[in-house]
Amino acid sequence: MTDTAPPLLRVRSLRKQYRSGDTTLEVLRGVDFDLAAGEFVSVVGQSGSGKSTLLHLMGLLDAADAGEIELDGVRVDGLSTAGRDRLRNTAIGMVFQSYHLLPEFDALENVLAPLMVRYGVLEWLRVRGAARAQARGLLDRFGLGGRLHHKPRQLSGGEMQRVAIARALVTQPRVLLADEPTGNLDEATGAGILETLCELNRTDGLSIVLVTHDAAVARRADRIVRLAAGRVEDALPVAQRLAG
Ligand code: ADP
Ligand code: MG
Repeated sequence: MTDTAPPLLRVRSLRKQYRSGDTTLEVLRGVDFDLAAGEFVSVVGQSGSGKSTLLHLMGLLDAADAGEIELDGVRVDGLSTAGRDRLRNTAIGMVFQSYHLLPEFDALENVLAPLMVRYGVLEWLRVRGAARAQARGLLDRFGLGGRLHHKPRQLSGGEMQRVAIARALVTQPRVLLADEPTGNLDEATGAGILETLCELNRTDGLSIVLVTHDAAVARRADRIVRLAAGRVEDALPVAQRLAG
């Protein structure tokens, strides 16, 4: 990256609090975070430290109370709902611990869903063939070529997560945000999912933010960022951070 190129994702002074009744919980108290294009960063921190909150704000699923988020040098935190939806359908891919697949859709339909949302009915008829080929290609790549018409309930946890990753990638996003993607999986299956993410980063240059409370998972990234007391601690390379 040159000095003048902005980071892919730039977060400044991000604040988020939750109110319930007369108590206020300050979860994020001024978070600063950068992700360079092509970088793979893990975000760690104790349960309740605000990891999911931060990821949801960066994924434009929720709005911050204050602060700035830039994607490719463009402010995205103040967008309208339609503007956020559009970015989430084009530039940002998200993966969750519990997969969030649509139960009545098969694997292929789940992967196609973001593209069906993107195009109107008439345009969908025109692009459907290419979209299906692209979705099949992703499912094939993730070893699910024989599971195209399985519903989520007919798939294992690892298979469901690979469908969810394919769905996140079918829009060709600039960044993948993953919230504890191995959290519901046994160790070997989780390791396979992690391997998939590493390969997407190394082979395809996909930029990734991975939230995890698991140090062994976190250390697969290029860099680890720790959330504590509502802020990001000073970033250290992986080796130093885990030694500390
Ligand atoms: P983490 O992912 O690091 O475990 P979260 O970001 O999910 O942490 O949550 C941070 C804190 O904010 C927790 O104490 C949680 O209970 C609280 N919290 C999260 N979401 C909400 C919400 N929608 N309303 C109220 N409190 C919330
Ligand atoms: Mg969480």
